[in-house]
Formats: sequence, C-alpha cells, structure tokens
Amino acid sequence: MESKYTHFWPPNDVLTSITDIVFLMLDTQANILDINPYGCQLLECPAEKLIGKNWIDYCIPKEQRQAVRVVFKQIVDGVRQADHYENSILSRSGKEYVLTWHNMERRDKCGNIVGTLSSGINITERVIRERKIQEALLLAQRKCQAILDNAIEAIIGSDMKGNIISFNNAAEEMFGYLNSEMLGKNVRQLMPAPYRNKHDNFIKNYLSTGEAKIIGSGRELTAVKKDGSSFPIHLSITDTIIDNEHIFTALLRDLSKQKAVEKKLQEKETENRHHNERLAHIARVSTLGEITAGIAHEVNQPLAAIATYAQSGRRLANTDSGDIDELNYVLEQIELQAVRASQVIHRIRNLSKQGDSCRSVFQINEIIEDSLSLVKAEAVSKQVALKCNLGTNLPSVHVDAIQIQQVLLNLILNAIQAMTATPPAQRTITISSECTADKDIRVTVSDNGSGISKEHLAQLFIPFFTTRKNGLGIGLSICRTLITAHGGSLNINRRKRKGSEFYFILPAMHGSKEEDNG
Ligand code: ADP
Repeated sequence: MESKYTHFWPPNDVLTSITDIVFLMLDTQANILDINPYGCQLLECPAEKLIGKNWIDYCIPKEQRQAVRVVFKQIVDGVRQADHYENSILSRSGKEYVLTWHNMERRDKCGNIVGTLSSGINITERVIRERKIQEALLLAQRKCQAILDNAIEAIIGSDMKGNIISFNNAAEEMFGYLNSEMLGKNVRQLMPAPYRNKHDNFIKNYLSTGEAKIIGSGRELTAVKKDGSSFPIHLSITDTIIDNEHIFTALLRDLSKQKAVEKKLQEKETENRHHNERLAHIARVSTLGEITAGIAHEVNQPLAAIATYAQSGRRLANTDSGDIDELNYVLEQIELQAVRASQVIHRIRNLSKQGDSCRSVFQINEIIEDSLSLVKAEAVSKQVALKCNLGTNLPSVHVDAIQIQQVLLNLILNAIQAMTATPPAQRTITISSECTADKDIRVTVSDNGSGISKEHLAQLFIPFFTTRKNGLGIGLSICRTLITAHGGSLNINRRKRKGSEFYFILPAMHGSKEEDNG
C-alpha cells in the first residue's frame, strides 16, 4: 500500500506480512488515514473504502462507540498517555473481533497533535475461550449453588479462621439469618456457650495436630438461632484442602422434630409401663386373693408350732430341774418358726407391693422355689401334687424376681384350677427349668387338667378372655407382657395331648453383663 505517512508507518512488505496486528492511523477527528491489510481483512473492506471514513462510527460496535470516543478525545487532547485499551471492531458482515490496542498520539514538527497511531492485537479467540471458561465456571457455580440451596440439610462452609464462606437456603431457614448477614461472620455465632468460646481453639488444635473431634464423624449438639433460642442438631463436618487452605463444610440437620417425637414416644412408653405395672399389680393382688387360704395355712403352721414350743418352754422354766440345754433348743425352734412365718409374710408383702420394675441377677430355680412355697398350701388343699424337675448349673437371669414369680404363680394357679375335674390321684403339676439349645432359660408348667380347646387357643393371651366364673381374664396377657419386657416369650405347647403346658423363655446371662440396672 502506498502511503504518505511512511515516516510513522511500517513499510509495505512488513505490513503485508503482519497477519495478527491491525495498524491504524487516524486524524484528530478519528477519520481513517490509513490501515494495514490485516485490518482491512478483519473489517472485510478495502483500504480505499475505509480511508476517509470515521473509525468510531464506521468500525466500532454501537454500544462501545461512546467509551471509545472518550478515550480517543483524551489522546488527541493530550491528556491521556500512550496506553493499552481493549475494544471491539465490527466487520462489514457483522462479525465482531476483540482487539487490545496500543494507542499513541501523532505530532507534527511543531509538536502539535495531529492524530493517533494505534496497533491492535486480535485477541478474539482468547476472549472467546476466556468467556467460555467464565461461562462454564459460572454454570458450575450456579449448579453448585442450586444443589446447596435445594439441600434439605443446612450446609455451612467456613475457612480456617471459622469465617463463613457459604450459607445455604436451608441454613437461612434453620437459623433465621440471611445468607448476606452471615457471610464473613464467624461460625461460633451459631453455637451456644461454652462451645462458642472454645471453637477457635478446636480449629487451632485440629490444624496443628490433625486430631479430629467432630471432623469426619457426626455428633449431636445444640445450635443457636438468630432469636437466641437453642435447638438440637446433628452436625457432621468435612475438611477439604484447596490451595493449601482448609475449607470446612458443615452439614446440619435440625433434630427438634425428631427429639419431640422421641420424647413423646418415651412419655408414651413410660405411661404404658406404668399402666402395665398397675395392671400387673392388680393381677398380683387378685392372685394373692386366690391363695389367701393357703397363705393363712402357711403362716398358721409356724405360729401353731411357736405356740406349742412356747408352752414347752414355760413348762421347762417352771420346773426346778429345768434343763437349760432343752430350754435353749425350744427357744431355737421358736426362732426358726418365727423366721419361717416372717419369710412367708415377706414374700406376700413383696408380691402385694406396687413399685417400679427392679431387675437383678437371679438363679431361676430360686425364683421357682420361692413361688412354690407360696402355692404349696393351696396345692395341698386342692389335692394337687407339685413336682419339680429343675435343671442344674443353669446360667443366671437378669430379671425382676417379683414379676417372674407373678408369672409362675399365675401359671401354677391356672393349672390347679384346670384340674378340678381331674381325679385327685392324677392331679399333678410339673415345673421344670432347663437350658435351651440357644442357651437361654426355659421354664415349663405342665398339668393334666382340662386342656385348652382349639377355639380358645387363639384367645388365651387376649386381655379379659376367661372361661372361669370368677376369672378376670388378665392373668395370661399380663404374664406375656412381663416376659416380653424381659426380652423373652411366653407360649403354650400346642403338641401337648392331655392337659396343658405353658412355657416361658428368658434370656440367660453369659459372660459379663451388667449386674444390675436398678
Ligand atoms: P383367668 O385365670 O382370670 O381366666 P387368665 O388370663 O389367667 O385369666 O386365663 C385365661 C383363660 O385361659 C382361663 O380362663 C382358661 O380358660 C385358660 N387357661 C389358662 N391356663 C389354663 C390351663 N392350665 N389349662 C386350661 N385352661 C387354661
């Protein structure tokens, strides 16, 4: 290209070989004085057509014209030094190219500014690439935010100082703070004392020792809302290292509802337990009522013996030649009988007491024998023989002895009552204890009474089912509740042909178990 401004302008061969820089010469009005072939190529217009046209109006996209005009004016007014500026140009067919320009003023021999000389590097591809990356980043960021914002759980990100860097929608809802209120604030603001004051140290310790307390695992804690109220949460924290910086992501779940449900369930359970205990007590008292005659007999026996021994004692005391050894023997017997009577009374008192369940370690055979001593007299009066077949070396059980006694008494009394039509010579109840194949304890009460008809079998354990005239029908259902509460089961042996056979299974203690849970 022939040019009259060659003193400013690169030589033609250089100009044609430059394929990525636009050279542009303008006068003080921004009219094009000259432009190199690469510039013409981008603008899709020959130099002849471009020369004389106003650069800003003809080649700059409309929305950038005003800004470019301001810069241009500053250069030609001499108030802006040679510098870089980025703007686009628009080709004749409407394609836009981004160029980074180096602009400088041109002066005549007298030093007056006569226009500008600019070189522009086409950075369109780089800008497009950067824009795409930017868009992809923005999209990824939006997706991330959408995930965070749609999460049901509160997610709070914080940096190494505990300053909040993200606070999602669920966190806003949970704490009552806006995201904008919390960004940059310290997470300790969401904690109650004393954790609030210890939190900085927790982070410091973790960062210096790597020893994690909550990080990597979950924990139930208390958090504080904006209104100052506290609520239970489940908190889990993960640590991510980005550019040598630790980013802590806390996942929080509000446990208020869950805790309220748990509390209600607990209350309901306690209520049920008390209800069952009251019912069990009523059943026990009713059982006791059934064996009063037998109990009276059990107490009368030692009392009668005491009276007899006391008479002998008096006789001995009134005799001059009273043998002191014999007197001692008589007193010993009185003591023995008194203890026997008081033991019966003690057992009755225990059975008639109402109180919270109290479990301890027992040998099942001891409980069986205690129960037998209470029904012995009743059995004798009903001409029923009580047979025992107790296993040896059985593992202990962890039970409320009174409740297990109640179950046994109920089963034995039911058996006695079921044998009223059985000839007295055949009235036998066998109580056995053994270890099951699963190493639990099984206690069986077997009789040869009336047995249970098929249609009654399914109803036996339903409360208030009774076939007895004065029966309450709660005995078996309470027995089952008591045994189930011990982790065991109460059932009837359906294979028994003659009479009935009830059995219950209790978990046995093996190895180290807590001795007593009160
Ligand atoms: P109740 O003794 O007040 O009737 P239970 O719940 O103890 O209440 O027993 C319910 C019913 O089960 C009894 O009425 C009786 O029909 C039946 N039953 C319980 N034990 C036996 C048994 N050993 N043999 C036959 N029937 C029995």
